Amino acid sequence: MQSENNIPISSIHRMVDCPLCEKNNFKVIYKYKPNRYNHNYFYTPSWDGGLEVGLTLVKCKSCNFKYQNPIFKDEDLNLLYPESIAPENLKPADFGDFSFIYKAVKPYIDSSNKDFFAVDIGTRVGGLPKLLQENGVNAAGIEMNKALVRASNKYGVKNIYEGKVDNLKEVLQKHNKSNVDLLTMTDVIEHLTNPNKDFKLISSLQKSGQILLLTTMFDDSLGRFFFGKEWYYIHAQHTLYFSRKTITEFLHKFGYKVVKIDSIPFYKSLIHLPKGYTKFFKHKWHLLAGTKFTPKKWFADDRPECQDMMTIVAIKS
Ligand SMILES: [Zn+2]
Repeated sequence: MQSENNIPISSIHRMVDCPLCEKNNFKVIYKYKPNRYNHNYFYTPSWDGGLEVGLTLVKCKSCNFKYQNPIFKDEDLNLLYPESIAPENLKPADFGDFSFIYKAVKPYIDSSNKDFFAVDIGTRVGGLPKLLQENGVNAAGIEMNKALVRASNKYGVKNIYEGKVDNLKEVLQKHNKSNVDLLTMTDVIEHLTNPNKDFKLISSLQKSGQILLLTTMFDDSLGRFFFGKEWYYIHAQHTLYFSRKTITEFLHKFGYKVVKIDSIPFYKSLIHLPKGYTKFFKHKWHLLAGTKFTPKKWFADDRPECQDMMTIVAIKS
């Protein structure tokens, strides 16, 4: 099957309008062929779920937003997100380091308000809610991967529930809340397949002055500029590629004012560049030579980046 822009689309794909301006007027920027990473020699779950499908990134001609088009249909997302295996017994290190998130949101946490409530969506094993709870904040987490929720519950982290953005309202109801003071999503927004639906819901559950914190990779970064098509962050699970400008515009649509965007300082990002280039050439070489890796190699092992992540703090207007 071909779309009107001559992009071959498989039966598990659907074409989408620009998630930012909602128009359907784009040009293709990168096209990755099916089997770019041979499944016999590479682990590729986040590229294409081991399927013979390509990946296409496009840029909206109206608003310049970059996104994946076509994307996996929602009913086929299980192919792209095989249930990840969680360790039976978690260790403290498995929760990750969220101290930089806590530092970013701390000025907005009203510790005198006993009703203050935080929810982390896409919480994995609940590392961020756990840290917030340890700092006296009433916090919950939502995670779609059952294995991770089970492991977290077993460890004893409180208020970790299975679900997605759609389940936010019922999680709030469980805690007798109708809105959420602090909503966090770390490395989640770039995975959404219905971002407008999700943010309409999120926005309806936050009142004026309440806080939203997001982290995601940014497309106007040094790594993206230098490594282009081989940039570490480009793969099939990542549908949305925000820049500092487009994330601000996107959140504005839902009544949020961005108050802060943190990213690695430019000079520090530069320090990563030589290491990135070493990876870049190694990666290009293996692709060109068709290296047969035994045992299989993770496809992104030597895909380069320059720590191109941003943290966004926004306030509901
Ligand atoms: Zn657009």
